[in-house]
Amino acid sequence: MSAVPDSARAVLKAAEAPDSRKAVAGFLAQVTRDAAFQLEACVHCGQCADACHFYLVTRDPRYTPIHKLRPMVKAYQRERAPFSALKKRLGLAPPEVTAEELTEWSELLYDSCNLCGRCTLVCPMGIDIAGMVRRAREGMVAGGFAPADLYQAAQRALDTGSPIGVGWPALRRQIELQEQETGLKVPVDVEGADYLVVLSSMEIIGFAEIIGALARIFHHAGVSWTLPSSGFEATNIGVQMGSRDVAAALLERIVAAAERLKVKYVISPECGHAYSALRWEGPNLLGRPYPFKVVQIVELLDQLAKEGRLRTRGKDTRRLTFHDPCQIVRRGGLPQAPRRLMNQVSGGFVEMPDRGVANFCCGGGGGVSAIHRAEKLRFSAFECKKRQVEATGAEALVTTCANCRNVLEEAIEQDGMSLPVLGLTELVAQYLEPDPVQVLPATNA
Ligand code: SF4
Ligand code: SF4
Repeated sequence: MSAVPDSARAVLKAAEAPDSRKAVAGFLAQVTRDAAFQLEACVHCGQCADACHFYLVTRDPRYTPIHKLRPMVKAYQRERAPFSALKKRLGLAPPEVTAEELTEWSELLYDSCNLCGRCTLVCPMGIDIAGMVRRAREGMVAGGFAPADLYQAAQRALDTGSPIGVGWPALRRQIELQEQETGLKVPVDVEGADYLVVLSSMEIIGFAEIIGALARIFHHAGVSWTLPSSGFEATNIGVQMGSRDVAAALLERIVAAAERLKVKYVISPECGHAYSALRWEGPNLLGRPYPFKVVQIVELLDQLAKEGRLRTRGKDTRRLTFHDPCQIVRRGGLPQAPRRLMNQVSGGFVEMPDRGVANFCCGGGGGVSAIHRAEKLRFSAFECKKRQVEATGAEALVTTCANCRNVLEEAIEQDGMSLPVLGLTELVAQYLEPDPVQVLPATNA
């Protein structure tokens, strides 16, 4: 495990002595010119409220997306906005942001926001509310006001490589099991392979069949790939909690593995936030371009299908619907690739209302599924997803994010529903055309 930079360690120390002044400094550090425009632009139309599942299921005005930014807006208006010094002298500036207020807002900025971006989509003023919540979390973390569960997960990620403590021995065991299952060798630490696969802890522990599915697909398509024995964890708790320092420290490990093995591509796995962290935030967080390209697994499977290298036979005959992971579809720009794959292997694919970029979050993204105190609210928010799924009459739900899958399975069980949740990569692997049988030349024995 690579050394943990002091800056990342310092982030965790903040939780020991919460300080509103540090949080305000953290807010203000995020107020770039573009962010200032966004903090000034709200016309209070209320459209973002009707886009947010937390507001829709509770009708609690505190869950209006733009309201969640209130402490950051106050800090900006008091300290940085035009004429703020004069307003302060005249007693016209908002009061100081207090520790009590930030403690209260911790629930609004974390438990009730998945960073899903559905509110961003509808704002007529173009305010990226989800992006601003992400920025506000930087201040909350710096001040020590993020949920304790997230600081602890970050500590584990920095110390062990995984937010839930999944190390190489656990992954090695899952690899061995998948090798026995598929009869295929899973390549590990192969220098010069084209593609490096990284995995989320949730996949390793909850859905390890993905490893066998990848082995079968890549064997079928002739893809040169490898897993690394270190730097394999894709989950980035730093991005979820809102700490650039923690996020960068975790990303460095993947980059080090990719550089060590001299790969051309890193495959972001079935994990939404891993994709955001690795593809969109990574080079900015590290301050340098990658020496490799990042590709999302669904994007690669779609490309292989287009090249005629992903040949399937037969289709699932059940009525299936697809849940769009927010960070891969709405925020990640990949709405069509999963649908092409669904149509390739499903004979009964039916879309849910508000599909694609308008889909509702599973309720657990943005670190929410790791926050214990948020569980009740998360289960309530599932109501929006439940209505969508029930409108389709689907017999199974397919998705391409292990965290969504786990969150949906938990909510479905909690709700007493009976609905399997499937991973898209595994579904594709299930319908691969069998390898042609090798016919050996006859011998004149
Ligand atoms: S990003 Fe999603 S969860 Fe967060 S406030 Fe917006 S709609 Fe609600
Ligand atoms: S949709 Fe945009 S303009 Fe309207 S209330 Fe929300 S943030 Fe403000």
